[in-house]
Amino acid sequence: MAVAAALLAVTVSAANADCSISRKPFGSIAGSKPVYLYTLTNSHGVKAEITNWGGTLVSLFTPDRNGKPGDIALGFNDLSDFQTKSPYFGSTVGRFANRIAKGHFTLDGKKYTLFLNNGPNTLHGGKVGFDKKVWSSEPVEHRKSAGLVLRYVSKDGEEGYPGTLTVRVVYTLADDDTLRIDYTASTTKDTIVNLTNHTYFNLAGEGNGTVLDHVLTVNADRYTPVDKTLIPTGELASVAGTPFDFRTPHVVGKRIDSRDNQLVIAGGYDHNFVLNKRGHELSKAAVLYCPRSGRVLSISTTEPGIQVYSGNFLDGSLTGKSGKKYLRRGALALETQDFPDAPNHPNFPSSELKPGQTLRETTVLKFSVRKD
Ligand code: BGC
Repeated sequence: MAVAAALLAVTVSAANADCSISRKPFGSIAGSKPVYLYTLTNSHGVKAEITNWGGTLVSLFTPDRNGKPGDIALGFNDLSDFQTKSPYFGSTVGRFANRIAKGHFTLDGKKYTLFLNNGPNTLHGGKVGFDKKVWSSEPVEHRKSAGLVLRYVSKDGEEGYPGTLTVRVVYTLADDDTLRIDYTASTTKDTIVNLTNHTYFNLAGEGNGTVLDHVLTVNADRYTPVDKTLIPTGELASVAGTPFDFRTPHVVGKRIDSRDNQLVIAGGYDHNFVLNKRGHELSKAAVLYCPRSGRVLSISTTEPGIQVYSGNFLDGSLTGKSGKKYLRRGALALETQDFPDAPNHPNFPSSELKPGQTLRETTVLKFSVRKD
């Protein structure tokens, strides 16, 4: 077995490359194509581990202000833990990320019904979303970057969505300390699509306390308030004068427990912010800074929104990769995406995709440090 495993571990490093990608087996699933853990590295100590199970970002090592690498993404060591316990740690989420009210949407006059997996609503694609599928995978390597191409074909009717959807997600780690995620999708029938990555970040290192001391900036004048089941009311509310105003840097924990009704409903931040944008350009969405480690994460995206989720449903019952418990608010997910429940809100940017069109979205994570 050891020999077989060793043979499977291929490295595709080009000579003198600054970035490389290698792979090893990551558990197995009966009757499925192989599940791998790919390791992408650059020459500055940034390392991303990604599995083709769910297109999941399993770990993400970046240097702190002293140059010491640490893993800033919550997750597990074993595939079986991801399969049985994970609240979308690092997942590629689809066909429709975030919530759809009561599992219903109407397209071209026809009503579609989805599986309800979140109280009265559908969350993150339904019962078996893209995060639980084994994707086909192909490593690519250039001198200044290493990439992983993931492909998944979602059949017409899968989880109740119309049209066969062909999806490609490419993770690219570059030597400029960026991890870029490019999404493309095409369909055989009119459908709805909302793809995101669901990494839970803790810039002090996974399992190292909460993110309440992190400093967040979000490039959004407005956000989408929600009802008691976390479905947007449809209003695009101004953040001015509210705890949702992150247009200048604010400590995450400073206002999180204030009496703002939206924070009370969600138990903290669990809201979509309307990014300030002119069009579909790649533009700055959010910056997260951790004073303890000095790490800075800057996120740019082509997407219209970003869900800021402060890990309110983590409760210390999950133990992560380094054996530490994941506490309530032990991470911040920053999910670039279309607005939640967009198909049921004509005033939200459309998430419809038609045959002949190609969905193209990009999100870039940039890692740096502050010395002060
Ligand atoms: C949602 C949260 C949810 C979490 C894990 C986030 O995208 O906004 O409400 O608990 O995903 O499922």
